[in-house]
Amino acid sequence: MNLRAFTAERLNFHSWIKGSVNDVLVPIEAYHLYDPFGRRIKHETRFQYDRIPAVVELCIQAGVEIPEYPSRRRTKPIRMIGRKVIDRGGLIEEPQPGISANPSSLIDLDTHGACGRFPPPPPSDIPKIAQETMDAYETVKLGVTKLMDRYTVKACGYCSEVHVGPWGHNAKLCGEFKHQWRDGKHGWQDATVDEVFPPNYVWHVEDPKGPPLKGGALKKFYGKAPAVVEVCLQAGAQIPEKYKPMMRLDIVVPESEEAQLVA
Ligand SMILES: [Zn+2]
Repeated sequence: MNLRAFTAERLNFHSWIKGSVNDVLVPIEAYHLYDPFGRRIKHETRFQYDRIPAVVELCIQAGVEIPEYPSRRRTKPIRMIGRKVIDRGGLIEEPQPGISANPSSLIDLDTHGACGRFPPPPPSDIPKIAQETMDAYETVKLGVTKLMDRYTVKACGYCSEVHVGPWGHNAKLCGEFKHQWRDGKHGWQDATVDEVFPPNYVWHVEDPKGPPLKGGALKKFYGKAPAVVEVCLQAGAQIPEKYKPMMRLDIVVPESEEAQLVA
């Protein structure tokens, strides 16, 4: 079979490979800024800034101290009228990124290759780990929601780029891996919680050991859930009530003939 015929044949079919942590918890990175109200990042100066998880950047701006990523702590509030900054307390010399006298143990938090670095837990521990993970997910989601009420986060309307700060940045990388429009300029809007901490919805699988989910008309009987919630449920966690309606736990998936009768 030639390649084109092969491609056409497999069009619309997913090609499944083993997932990693990043397929469940989609990493969203943003530039770390010493002073979010300071100089705007230009396309030419973008390499002077570290890329870190957007949630971590949000927490740093809200007061978490991480030695590698220092942050300007103002003693006087910034004065603004509407969106215009009247007084930001002047610009001060910014420390060079990546230089720190007391590196913290951030590397321990790196998820890269985590599945290889940590041995699989004993089966008896799994429900407990699932519940801790479920609870932690809810804690982070609620925390991000509250912090975003207080700190401005911007998201690009055309790609998944996020910026933690009152105005976006000027790195022209929009659509970097596809077509570039608008000279690569991002289109900044106020971000939603889902853009900063994506739920990454997956189909809810009633019986993970059962046959694969059926596509087509039966799709409408399946529910969805954030990937973390689905993993935790399958691993034995109690999940919050709010997810149950969207997962359609009350619906019995009909056999295909029945589905055609009701469709
Ligand atoms: Zn963009």
